[in-house]
Amino acid sequence: MKKGTHTDQMDPDVRPRTPDGCEECLKSGSWWVHLRLCETCGHVGCCDSSPNKHATKHFHASGHPIVQSFEPGEDWRWCYVDEVEVQV
Ligand SMILES: [Zn+2]
Ligand SMILES: [Zn+2]
Ligand SMILES: [Zn+2]
Repeated sequence: MKKGTHTDQMDPDVRPRTPDGCEECLKSGSWWVHLRLCETCGHVGCCDSSPNKHATKHFHASGHPIVQSFEPGEDWRWCYVDEVEVQV
């Protein structure tokens, strides 16, 4: 698959649904290491260094391909399908 073909699934006006943290971890009372924001629907999930890996689980459940870092001062995007950093 060609690089960058998933950027059309990014919502330029996406807003985090749970700005306070990982949606599932907040519900279950769990914890996380870093947060990732789904660029398609605004789901906030925890990274693969976290015990529950909800960002990756969200990709597998929804097919939404691109996340961006939801950490202060970090500005990068990742495509799960292509496993590359996305340049926009
Ligand atoms: Zn892609
Ligand atoms: Zn989580
Ligand atoms: Zn999503």
